[in-house]
Amino acid sequence: MDFTPLIPENAPFTPAQRQWLNGYLAGLLAGETRASGAATPDSGRAPIPLLILFGSQTGTAEQLARRVATEARARGCEPRVMEAAAHGSIDWTRETNLLVVTSTYGDGEMPDNARDFWLWLQGDAARPLDRLGFSVLALGDSNYPEFCAAGRNIDERLGALGARRIHPRADCDVDYEAAAKGWIDSVLAALTPPNAAGPKPSPTGGPGGAASPPSTGFGKARPFPARLLANRRLNGEGSEKETRHFEISLEGSSLSYEAGDALGVVPSNCPALVEEIIALLGGDGEEGVPMPGGGETSLRRALATACDITRPGGELLQRLGAHHPEVRTLLSPDRKEELRRWLWGHEIIDLLLGAPGAGLKPAEFVGLLKKLAPRLYSISSSPKAHAGEVHLTVNVVRHPSHGRSRKGVCSTFLADRVGPATEVPVFVQASHGFRLPASGETPVIMVGPGTGVAPFRAFLHERRATGATGRNWLFFGEQRSAHDFYYREELEGMRAEGHLTRLDTAFSRDQAAKVYVQHRIAERADELWSWLQEGAHFYVCGDASRMARDVDAALHAVAATAGGLGPEGAAEYIAGLKTAKRYQRDVY
Ligand code: NDP
Repeated sequence: MDFTPLIPENAPFTPAQRQWLNGYLAGLLAGETRASGAATPDSGRAPIPLLILFGSQTGTAEQLARRVATEARARGCEPRVMEAAAHGSIDWTRETNLLVVTSTYGDGEMPDNARDFWLWLQGDAARPLDRLGFSVLALGDSNYPEFCAAGRNIDERLGALGARRIHPRADCDVDYEAAAKGWIDSVLAALTPPNAAGPKPSPTGGPGGAASPPSTGFGKARPFPARLLANRRLNGEGSEKETRHFEISLEGSSLSYEAGDALGVVPSNCPALVEEIIALLGGDGEEGVPMPGGGETSLRRALATACDITRPGGELLQRLGAHHPEVRTLLSPDRKEELRRWLWGHEIIDLLLGAPGAGLKPAEFVGLLKKLAPRLYSISSSPKAHAGEVHLTVNVVRHPSHGRSRKGVCSTFLADRVGPATEVPVFVQASHGFRLPASGETPVIMVGPGTGVAPFRAFLHERRATGATGRNWLFFGEQRSAHDFYYREELEGMRAEGHLTRLDTAFSRDQAAKVYVQHRIAERADELWSWLQEGAHFYVCGDASRMARDVDAALHAVAATAGGLGPEGAAEYIAGLKTAKRYQRDVY
C-alpha cells in the first residue's frame, strides 16, 4: 500500500500551492533522483513531477506534448513524456500530476496509441485516482460533429475517477496554436506557484513566446520555401479520379525525414476566389487588415495567404447567417444537424453571396476568419532512394456543389497554381507511430488502397536502398486497373525482381460487384496468418471512415478463423499486435 500523504483540502493553501506541495511530497517519498536533466528551480526546491501522456495519430499531439515538457522543465518541473499506450508501465499510486494531450480522429475516435489507455480508464483501473491532478489538451477539427471527442471523453472520465482538474480542458481546432499556447501557459502557471517557478522565460521564447524554442532551422513555425520539381497525374485517360505525384526539392533546407513521416504544405488560396470575395466586400484589395497572427497586411494578401476562406468559423456563420434567408432559419440550437448538412456542400462565398445586407467591413471580415492551416500528406519517397527530395501522392479535390465548382485548397494549389518560380512552403512532420520494423529481416504486410499507397512506396524504396532482406507484401486497391493503378511499373518491377514478395490488387470497378482490399485479405487468410506468425508487421494507410474499419474487421477474421483463435482470442491477439507496434495505421 502507498502512504504518501496528501495536503488536506482545508489546509491554508491555494489549490496551486496544494498541488505543488503534493507533488513535492510524492517526489520526496518516492526517493527518486530527480536532479538529472531537470532545471531545478531557483528556490532550490525539488522539481515538480509531471507525467505528460499523448495520444497522437499524425504526430501533432506528440509534438505538443514534447513542447509542454520543454516549457515545464524551464519552470522547474520534471516532466516525463510517454505515449498513452504505455500507461501499463506507470505506477499510478505515485503519480501526482498528469497532463494529457490527445487528438481525435475519424468519427470521434481515440488515436490508435490512446485506445488501450481509454479502455483501461473505463475498466477497473478505474480505481479512485484522487491523488492525481490533471488537465487535458484536446485537438480536433470543428468541421466534424464529434469535435475533440477523444479529449472530452478522457477529461470527463478522469474527473469521474476522482482526479482533480488542475486547469480546465482546452479544445483546439485545426488552427490550434493560440488555444494550445493559452492552455500550456495556464496549466503550467497552475502547477508552478510563483515562488516555485524556475528560470523566467526569455522575452522571445519559452512559455510566453513562439510555438517552439527559437530555432535557426526550418519547421512548422518557419516552413522552408521549396521548389516543385515534378507534377504528374497518376491516372490514365478516362479515369474518374485525379491523383497526382509531386516531387519537391528539399535542397538547401537541411530538413530531413524518414520513411513513414508526413510533409506539411502551407498552401495559398485560389486567386479567383480571393478576387470574388474582395468584390463582395466592396473593397479594392489594398486596404489594410489585421493578420490572424498579429501585424497588418493588405486584404488581398491576407485572403490569399493567411486565412481560411472556405470554411466559416462559428462567429462568421452567425454574423453572415443572420442575413442569409436559408441559413437564418438553421441557426437555432435544435437545427444544428440541418445546419451541419448545409455547410457540407457550401462555403464562405455562398454565405457572402446570400447575405449582401450583412455589411461586414474588410477588417471585420478578416478578423472572423480562421487561420489557413497547413495540410499534411504522407510522404511517398525514402530519403535513402531520393536524397534531397520528397515525393507526395495526392488526391486532387475538385467537385461541383450547388452550382459552383469547388476546389480543395492545397491539392489544387499543388496541382494548378505552383509554377517554376512559386515557393511551396513545407515542413516535415515526424510520425513516430508509423515506422518500418527495426530489423530489415522482419516481414511487412502493407494495405494501402488509393493514396494510401504513399508511405508503402516509401517503405519499399527504403527497404531496397538499405538491402533489407525481409519479405514485403502489398495490398493495393483503386477503381479500375486500366487507369488507376498508381506506380504500376515500379511496383510490378519490384514484384518481378522479388523485392515485392506479393502484390495483391483490388480494382473495385473492374467488375459488377465491388472488390476491395479486405476481400483480398480474406482470400489469402492462411498465408497472411503464417506471415503474422513469423513476426510480420501489419500496416494500413488511407481512408479512416470505411476502409480502415473494414480492414481491421478482416484482420480480426483472419486471426479468428485461419488462426483458430475465435472472436475473443482474435481481439486479444490484435490488441497484442498493437501493443508490440506490429499493427500500425496512418489513416485520414
Ligand atoms: P479511396 O479510399 O476513395 O478509394 C480507393 C479504393 O478504395 C477505391 O477502389 C474504392 O472503391 C475503395 N473503397 C471504397 N470503400 C472501401 C472500403 N470500405 N474498404 C476498402 N476499400 C474501399 O481513395 P483516395 O486515396 O482517393 O481517398 C482516400 C481518403 O481521402 C478517403 O478518406 C477519402 O474520403 C479522402 N478523400 C477523397 C477524395 C476523393 O475525391 N476521392 C477527396 C478528399 C478526400 P470505390 O470507390 O469503387 O467504392
